Amino acid sequence: MSRVFSGIQPTGEPHIGNYFGAMRNYVRLGEQFGKNSLYCVVDLHAITNPNAFDPATLAEKTYEMALANFAIGLDPSQVIFFVQSHVPEHHELNWIFTSITPVGELERMTQYKDKAGQFESIPSGLLMYPALMAADILLYKADTVPVGEDQDQHLELTREIARKFNHHFGQTFPEPKSVHDPNALRIPGVDGNGKMGKSKGQGSTIGILEPLDAIWQKLRVAPTDPARVRRTDPGNPDVCLIFDYHKLFSDLDTIQLVDRECRTAGIGCVDCKKKLMEGVTEHLTPIQQRAEELRTDPDYVKDALRQGAQEARAIARPVIEEVREKVGFLKL
Ligand code: ATP
Ligand code: MG
Repeated sequence: MSRVFSGIQPTGEPHIGNYFGAMRNYVRLGEQFGKNSLYCVVDLHAITNPNAFDPATLAEKTYEMALANFAIGLDPSQVIFFVQSHVPEHHELNWIFTSITPVGELERMTQYKDKAGQFESIPSGLLMYPALMAADILLYKADTVPVGEDQDQHLELTREIARKFNHHFGQTFPEPKSVHDPNALRIPGVDGNGKMGKSKGQGSTIGILEPLDAIWQKLRVAPTDPARVRRTDPGNPDVCLIFDYHKLFSDLDTIQLVDRECRTAGIGCVDCKKKLMEGVTEHLTPIQQRAEELRTDPDYVKDALRQGAQEARAIARPVIEEVREKVGFLKL
């Protein structure tokens, strides 16, 4: 029987990269695997990034991230949805994994190199991130991990850690694999500055709960094909992030139309963006309405998270017992 695990950091507002790259698969796999699918707001990871972590807002961001997941249609009574710091077994397995993970492997990770480059003093937690991520997944012996493509390198290291543990201490863990949405491997940021990312700030993201007029203001000024200077110049959709977004939000007819008309200068960038905005509005309006409904019941999210943590711990505890025994800790 497969088990699914995935985590999302409360480092900012959930955006369309998170939604299409990962969260939408949570819903799909949740319907398939029920209580064998675990989703987690990974606040222990979030505190490793000083740019995104503020103790004054961490709780609120954690709450908002849970709410956003429920608003897209994830049903917490059908799956196990919880907050990482509410299940302390994650720390314990993480520590054991750090003792079998070479520093060189951690230093090689592109996410680490990208994020560490922003700091003069690098928190060691940022380096340890993939060991904690391996612990998150393997604590539940999960084998299926819905994530964006940017997490593939971490998944590879997770498999290596599982192999190493099994080799040293006896067969214990599966070697988990990532599951991607092929249309949403790596959604670019609306500022045209690489991958869309929460911790890069609001300039990079189109939030799934962001007011539609604010989204339009971002799309309106978003860069398109830099070679298309005048309205009469033909454009190349393959290098245009607006076209990437069309592939997520628009129907096939619209995608084909803007593809064709852009190449022949039949449509201007503003009209192309307006067409995109129609799809964005259609997709996000029901999600935003559901979020507003959820806000009217202040207990819903917290009750769900309390229940989720209990269910997660019930799976985690026996695994930790098994690990303690295999590592050889004295049992009393
Ligand atoms: P941060 O900037 O703090 O790292 P993030 O936006 O990258 O935030 P994470 O919480 O790190 O979001 O990742 C949550 C999930 O969303 C992961 O599965 C990740 O692979 C996926 N994801 C994040 N950004 C994108 C993107 N631009 N395109 C596709 N998937 C993405
Ligand atoms: Mg990230």
